[in-house]
Amino acid sequence: MIRIKGKAVSPGIVMGRALLYNFEKEVIRAENIGEKSVEKEIWRLENAVKKSQAQLKKINRDLQKIMGKDAAFIIETQYLLLKDSHLLDEIRGTIQNKLVKAEWAIKEVEKKYLKIFHTIPDLSFKAKSNDISDVLTRLIANLKKSSPATSAPQPGQVILVADDISPSVAATMMSNKRLLGLVLNKGGETSHTVILARTLGIPAILDTVNATDSIFNGDTLALDSVNGEVIVQPTPEVAAEISLKIEKFRLYKEQLKKLSQLPELTLDQHQFHLHANIELPFESEIVQSYGAQGIGLFRTEFLYLDSKMSISEEEQYLIYKKIAQNIFPHPLVIRTYDLGRDKSDPAAPRHEENPSLGMMAVRLFLKDREPFKIQIKAIMRANASGNIRILFPMITEIEEIHAIREIMAEAKKELQGAGTYPGKDVRVGIMLEIPAAVRLIRHLGDIIDFFSVGSNDLIQYLLAVDRNNSDVSYLFSPYHPAFIHILKEIRSEVDRIGKEVTICGEMAGQPVPALMLLGMGFTNFSMNALAIAEIKGVFTRIHYARLRKIVNQLDRFGSRTEIKTFFKKSLLELYPDLLDSHGPL
Ligand code: PEP
Ligand code: MG
Repeated sequence: MIRIKGKAVSPGIVMGRALLYNFEKEVIRAENIGEKSVEKEIWRLENAVKKSQAQLKKINRDLQKIMGKDAAFIIETQYLLLKDSHLLDEIRGTIQNKLVKAEWAIKEVEKKYLKIFHTIPDLSFKAKSNDISDVLTRLIANLKKSSPATSAPQPGQVILVADDISPSVAATMMSNKRLLGLVLNKGGETSHTVILARTLGIPAILDTVNATDSIFNGDTLALDSVNGEVIVQPTPEVAAEISLKIEKFRLYKEQLKKLSQLPELTLDQHQFHLHANIELPFESEIVQSYGAQGIGLFRTEFLYLDSKMSISEEEQYLIYKKIAQNIFPHPLVIRTYDLGRDKSDPAAPRHEENPSLGMMAVRLFLKDREPFKIQIKAIMRANASGNIRILFPMITEIEEIHAIREIMAEAKKELQGAGTYPGKDVRVGIMLEIPAAVRLIRHLGDIIDFFSVGSNDLIQYLLAVDRNNSDVSYLFSPYHPAFIHILKEIRSEVDRIGKEVTICGEMAGQPVPALMLLGMGFTNFSMNALAIAEIKGVFTRIHYARLRKIVNQLDRFGSRTEIKTFFKKSLLELYPDLLDSHGPL
């Protein structure tokens, strides 16, 4: 028996047989062709495109059967890549200009794209480059007449062990219900494979480094992706322990499901509201089953990046309208593109000395207004159901809000002129994530309807701590006295002008920081949908009045360590089992 550690990215516990999956990339050699063969190569390419499209359509259909209508968005992205004439034009151009076979031309184009993506540190680009490689690998397999679908593992439920696995192969196995769990040497936390696994509740661990060297086909595996480990050939005693854990986890999930349907009230009947953050449209179909009473943050930049920056007003309009209908009568908050910094436009990478303080979000779009206006028009147009709100990220000064209002007025006029304005104005909000914006609140009573606190960036910019740098992550704390002070200031300033505020950063989905926010008087929270049941579990077991008393005492302390210790200790004195009974194991 051996134990292999990994990073738990989709929680669950399962036991089953291992299936090693090595999607070995073939070596493709540069083979020159004569000019007369160019036509034949292009014909081969086009046949392979047709075949690949048919395969992706089938995967898409199968996936929709188990995940709902829009769920197969991820595969749709790959399908669109093959419809993208630009990508195919480049492959055709390479065949013609370099006089090479289609396989080599595909490899050349892939290399070029991956080079662009690898210059961008953001994890979402890893997902994007995986999609391009995945679809081009399929294309090459179809050129060679060996369908990649047939090189996927045989039937039977298995725990898949691989170096990495492409989203389309993962989707094929998941939709056939063949996948019990996933163990990957590498992988990315935000890769589409992982998003699919999470959505379907398939346990997964990543970063095991060399699981594929230590596991053989057919080995019995106990995968514990709550604690981040896989046990190979467990002894009968360990297997018995794991079976107990599986049962405990099942009960825990049942309990969470019940909790997620409870009313949003503390023990002393104080009302709160829990909403979901989403990145991809299909998530809107499942967030309500996790207990979300609305979508508090739709990070649309993922849509923009996935669509290769060419998403039209019409396409966006259809997407937003559908999500608004899915979530109705609850609100849908659509945040305009928060690009720049680590979420840059790969087609035009900018070189900035200090991107975190540079051209980002509304700053980018006030310079180049067209894509911004298109998005605003699509959002306004989609609001026939009346539950859409628009949210602008990274606001620094009031001049930006005036400029945005101007663009909104133009957009409305144009839509009215075209007869496509639904007659219902969207409510307008800004994110409070640059500390300076907090000072603007009192001046915004007439031009802003609501606020949303981006605690991830607010901490980053207040404490001068890069949110993605693990060397300084010890400083990235919601308990810093300055951060607590600014949160209290936000609460009182927003009350002063009688508006609503939601907290939508990570801390809203973490039980202890979220309790602190509740005690400060915040009532609207938006988080990863998977966290909702747990937060509801703690919120429904405390008294708001008591929590408020504890939070009022936090000003006595000058260090984050004291604040955290005092807050937790005081909570546990009142509610001894509040925090540990919700951890699964
Ligand atoms: C935040 O900054 O807290 C936030 C919600 O936005 P993002 O994480 O997308 O920057
Ligand atoms: Mg932010």
